[in-house]
Amino acid sequence: MPNDTNLTGRLRAVLFDMDGVLFDSMKNHAYAWSHAMTDFGLHMEPEEVYMNEGRTGNGTINLLAQRHWGRNATDEEVQKIYDAKSALFNTLPEPLPMSGALELLRKVQAQGLTRVIVTGSATHALLDRVNAAFPGIFAPELMVTAFDVCHGKPNPEPYLMGLRKAKIDASEAIVVENAPLGIQAARAAGIFTIAVNTGPLKDEVLLEAGANLVLPSMQYLADHWHEIYEQLK
Ligand code: MG
Repeated sequence: MPNDTNLTGRLRAVLFDMDGVLFDSMKNHAYAWSHAMTDFGLHMEPEEVYMNEGRTGNGTINLLAQRHWGRNATDEEVQKIYDAKSALFNTLPEPLPMSGALELLRKVQAQGLTRVIVTGSATHALLDRVNAAFPGIFAPELMVTAFDVCHGKPNPEPYLMGLRKAKIDASEAIVVENAPLGIQAARAAGIFTIAVNTGPLKDEVLLEAGANLVLPSMQYLADHWHEIYEQLK
């Protein structure tokens, strides 16, 4: 266990990112972004989608527009590209819950720890999807989505909002994240962060983003939760 932990209080809550942590949805996002961009003369490799996971749609589009066009996209262009990405995403099979996620959530719940979702996603049907995949685990008032915040990850605001909603201190929580920008956001909020490497990035990328611990999968975290909890609590 690393020594630079911020976890000095008693562990009371676990804050979960959603894409690439609770749902195996990143493959779909990578496909949709990389293909939708091509139609507009922009080029985005799937790996770059993983590197920029957590950025707003606007931020992702302008990253590419700057590179290929040397300027930001207009609002109209952003809307067109984002609509195309969303339309393509919606044709893909519904992402499945991440293997091991429900098992881990049940263990966390059985210990009486508070469960919070902190996602940059802006889907209105989110709660229904979460409840269908993880029944009885998450309370609607303990979810932070893109609708709740001004600044997306890597800004700490989403995670700070999660702490506020759960009425707990950063030192009493841990975060489970998969993306470099999400890890940066959680660490900037002062929270001990477990990275689960569920995508194609190297562990080093997640460590450099500030992860306190990098694990190979949600299944691994579920299988070893009690040992990890004993060292964290
Ligand atoms: Mg994620």
